[in-house]
Amino acid sequence: MQFLESIFSDGGALSQVIPGFRHRRQQWEMAQAVAAAIDASSLLVAEAGTGTGKTFAYLAPALLSSGKVIVSTGTKTLQDQLFNRDIPAVRQALQAPVTVAMLKGRANYICPYHLARARDEGRFLDRRDVGYLASIERYAASGGSGDKSALGEVPENAAVWPLVTSTRDNCLGQECAHLKECFVMEARKRALAADVVVVNHHLFFADVWLRDEGVAELLPACNSVIFDEAHQLPDTASLFFGETVTSGQLVELCRDSRAEGLVSAGDFAPLQDAAAGLEKAVRDLRLAAGSVPAKLPRAAALQRNGVTAALTALADTLDTLNAALESQAERAPGLENCWRRGQALAQRTQR
Ligand code: SF4
Repeated sequence: MQFLESIFSDGGALSQVIPGFRHRRQQWEMAQAVAAAIDASSLLVAEAGTGTGKTFAYLAPALLSSGKVIVSTGTKTLQDQLFNRDIPAVRQALQAPVTVAMLKGRANYICPYHLARARDEGRFLDRRDVGYLASIERYAASGGSGDKSALGEVPENAAVWPLVTSTRDNCLGQECAHLKECFVMEARKRALAADVVVVNHHLFFADVWLRDEGVAELLPACNSVIFDEAHQLPDTASLFFGETVTSGQLVELCRDSRAEGLVSAGDFAPLQDAAAGLEKAVRDLRLAAGSVPAKLPRAAALQRNGVTAALTALADTLDTLNAALESQAERAPGLENCWRRGQALAQRTQR
């Protein structure tokens, strides 16, 4: 810890490299806590205000630790900033002999196979795309990382990008004739060999979920994972592991059940009544939840006045609609489709 203290002190290692660096007690305390957590392989949740210097507070102990570290950011902007600016500065200050790599999702790297195909097929309609393609080809041949963010002259939303990058489905993998110059494979190889790997939350969770993008192989070998911008973790994680039921889905189910009922089960009034009942229950839940902030933890949201009762009533009316749909499902494929959707929504609502 004494060595760490000398790094963060006035006139210490960081101040030699970072202009205007001054000792800040909170930064130093956070660095100590991070170092202790890495040392003990334990969990640490650190929250500190703007201006604390959190990035250096975790980077210094991470670069000094002897194991492999994954640093995950919420945004690609911070990912680029860490890799291009902050980590090189801390590494220089500490004279730490660590290798660092950055890994993004495959859509961020030029795919030489698809680039060659796009050029040969000439599938470009306007001249601007042809110009973009020429820039991408020059960049791909320049010996860089193939990361499209380094090619500022082609906008991120240019129509040409999907044609010159790969997806999980259209990548030829080991069968690919361009494997030797493949930027995705190269980035993964560098990440596997590096001491510190910078990823983003989206890639981290996509990878845990899909086991495809290259982090899954890194995880077993790594000693520490640091999540910066960790407040974004719940949103990113729920994209991959979460379930949602929206009022829009329920209202759509009511609308379709009514329409299908009118066409194929006009003699069965309970179906129309059940759909109207569910629509009213959705409206009641919206009213009850109206004052609940959109991102309140579930337990807290349910404690608000009337939300639990409105949710229970909604689940009951959904069951009633499903019973009506079940009794009529054989009369038309559209009714059967509504019944299946209703069942799936009921299960999710229950959970
Ligand atoms: S291995 Fe996949 S990503 Fe790499 S060049 Fe071939 S098709 Fe493209």
